[in-house]
Amino acid sequence: MPGWDQVDRLVRDAHRSYATDPEGTVADYIPVLAETDPDLFGLAVIEVDGGIHDAGDATHAFSIQSISKLFVYALVIQEVGHAPVREIVGVNNTGLPFNSLIALELNDGHPMNPMVNAGAIATTALMPGSTTAEQWERVREGLSAFAGRPLSLNGEVYRSEAATNDRNRAIGRLLRSYGRLSVDPDEIVDVYTRQCALDVTAHDLAVMGATLADGGVNPITGRRVVDAEVCRDALAVVAATGLYERSGEWLFEIGLPAKSGVSGGIVAVVPGKGAIGAFSPRLDAAGNSVRSQRAIGYLSRALGLNLFASA
Ligand code: GLU
Repeated sequence: MPGWDQVDRLVRDAHRSYATDPEGTVADYIPVLAETDPDLFGLAVIEVDGGIHDAGDATHAFSIQSISKLFVYALVIQEVGHAPVREIVGVNNTGLPFNSLIALELNDGHPMNPMVNAGAIATTALMPGSTTAEQWERVREGLSAFAGRPLSLNGEVYRSEAATNDRNRAIGRLLRSYGRLSVDPDEIVDVYTRQCALDVTAHDLAVMGATLADGGVNPITGRRVVDAEVCRDALAVVAATGLYERSGEWLFEIGLPAKSGVSGGIVAVVPGKGAIGAFSPRLDAAGNSVRSQRAIGYLSRALGLNLFASA
């Protein structure tokens, strides 16, 4: 990374460049998300040496949604190990929408992809705990360790999604019917719904991503959250799957592992250097925040972060 001043200036430039970009629409399939102010836009970079850069609405809270999948996946690999998680959940892109049931039917109930709902529900089910309440507590504590502060549940988002998540409950039942869930499907979908409703900020996302960039040590708290091998596994999977059906285009253009969520957040990780957290609720057709993608792309180019570039 260049010096602190230069990174800070570029973060501000990236934010300014897209702050009035009108493209994209706010998600409405979780009723309460449709009420989000579409013009919110936050951007943050955290460096592994602890450097902090926030711009715009970087401390505005929003529900983490699908981005939780990346961090729960890392926590579960830490607990259960590389090989079992690879076998039970899989590591490939389904090429189908995040809430697809067809993907499961086509693969004999094997989820294939931990970064879409079926694979994420199967991953959360692997979290150790003798009850789902205990599993939920471990998820919340683990995500909080990544963020370096206690994360809390957004009750309004949780209730709104829990009242309308028939598809996810269908996915849970389907996993169970294929013998791929050893816990109660409705209970584990409830834990998954809660993990998606944890409130974070763009700044938090950057800290969480920087922990993966830093081999599992949170650069702000200095606390180890997961092992370095776990970060490698999680980043490899998310590089192939993190932006829904646009994951290939994203990697081709930007060259960074990243995960997006339907509330408008994206975290992009630069191994060994740091991470970018972004939030803007206007989404493209696949469910990825438009301004967040553009601002991260700007920073990737300006800071020379593309992992595949040799010059
Ligand atoms: N909680 C959302 C769901 O399960 C997350 C979707 C997403 O961000 O991709 O449908």
